[in-house]
Formats: sequence, structure tokens, C-alpha cells
Amino acid sequence: MVDWKKIPKIDAHIHLLPQDVIDANKGYSDRFVDFGDYDSYLNLMEKYNIEIAFIMPFNDPYMLSMNFKVDTVNNNLIDICTKSKNKLFCFADIDIRNDIKTTINELERIIKKKEVLGVKIHPSNTGYPIDGIYYDEVFKWANDNNILVEIHSYPRENLIDDVCSPLRIKNIKKKYPNLRLSIAHIGGLQYEELLNLDLYVNISAILTDLVERYGIEKTNKMLRKFDINKLIFASDYPDNRRIEPTEIYNKYFEILQQMDFTQDEAEKICKYNVLKMVGYLNK
Ligand SMILES: [Zn+2]
Repeated sequence: MVDWKKIPKIDAHIHLLPQDVIDANKGYSDRFVDFGDYDSYLNLMEKYNIEIAFIMPFNDPYMLSMNFKVDTVNNNLIDICTKSKNKLFCFADIDIRNDIKTTINELERIIKKKEVLGVKIHPSNTGYPIDGIYYDEVFKWANDNNILVEIHSYPRENLIDDVCSPLRIKNIKKKYPNLRLSIAHIGGLQYEELLNLDLYVNISAILTDLVERYGIEKTNKMLRKFDINKLIFASDYPDNRRIEPTEIYNKYFEILQQMDFTQDEAEKICKYNVLKMVGYLNK
């Protein structure tokens, strides 16, 4: 039986905040502020055998900088990663209030850093549809330069055309068949639209949601519908709609423990698939 707690892992989607942002926002019971500090997270990595984790931005500069500017956000993320000595990597942030040229210039600047693995797009935080023309320019740039893009996709259940819906993501894949894509939260409850597309999906945040609704066996079957070589472990720590930050990892491993993945498959899900996705962390 796979020991999910002990197996060496990469968590492909977490959130940490810079210390100055934490210090300025303490006392409001915010999970990112209360649980998103570097030192506590490094202890968790040790405890759960997480060798590497990827920090995700929010497309909201207020979350990750004190001057609310995207270049500061990106610099802050890189500083956290550099401090960790190859334990933490990050995705570049964008701020769609800036004109597209400014955004592409910033991406050009930041993608060269070895700590930056790709770009994160969060249509739910910006309220702007993933297949809109602004993002299209980002996809075009990513496609031309072979850059990995992670898209937040956890649409509201009954909105088939929500800003982050898989139906919209399909349009992007149609336009850019070779674009390197990672879908966070597997596309939510509309995940079936993404089956058979050439992209990676990670189980951040959604795993506990699915299990609460459908139970472990049915969730196991849902996950098995994806290509086992494209399925990626991720938690979204410290964020979760169902459980407290302190419960996230234990709950994730408790759930996965009861699924039917073999040791070989678990190793792919926990590490080898994501290494392939990012190009083995070598630039
Ligand atoms: Zn997240």
C-alpha cells in the first residue's frame, strides 16, 4: 500500500506571503496571513516529505506586495524561492490592469529567472474570461516561447461559461494545440470537458470538495478518467473551502491512502509527472 505521507513529493500549488505583507495584515484571521509564512511552511515540507513546492500568485498585487505592483510581487516571490535553496519555485504573476505590452515586458524580464517555472492566470480573481483577448496575447507569447501556463479553473457549478470554465479553456487549446498548460483544481466539477486534452491537471483544493460530495470511491473513479501521466499532486495550502489549513495535508493523504493508485502511479502523481511538466526544473 502506498504511504502518501512518506512518499517523496512535489506540491505543485501552494501559497506563501512575503513577511512584510504578513506583518502588515496580522489579526484579521486571514488564512494566507496566518499560515502562509516561509518558516512554518518549510517545517511542513519536512514533516510530510515535500521536497519541492510551487508558490502561486493571485493576479492580485495586493496579496503579495506592499506597493501593490506586479514587478514587486514577482521579485518577492523570487526572494522567497531563492532563500529556500531549490525547495521553492514560483509562477510569475500578471496584473491585467496594466496594458498588455507592460505585462509582456514584465513576463520577459521575470521568466528568465531560474526560480520561475511559468505564468499563472487566475480569471476568477480578475473577473476576466480566460479566452478573452488580453489573455490571448499572453497565451500567444507563451506559445511562441514554449512557456508553461497554469490556469485557475474552479468554476461555479452551474455556470458552464464561467470566466475560468473548461469550455473556455478548450477554445485556447484549439487555437494553440502545443501550448503547455497546467489546470489547477482539475477544472472543478466541469472537469469532464478537459478529459482527452493534452494538458496537466492538479488536484489542489478540489480533492476534499469531491470526496465530501461523492465519497472516496467515486472520486477515485473520476480521477482515473484522466491520463495517469498528466495527473499531479497539489494541495492549495493554506487555502481550502472545506477544511482548516492545519488539516489539509493529513486529510489529503488520508483520502489518497484509500484510493487504488499503485506505488508506481503514486510516484508519477507525486513527482514524475510534474517534473516532466516543468521540464525537470532545468533551464
Ligand atoms: Zn490556489
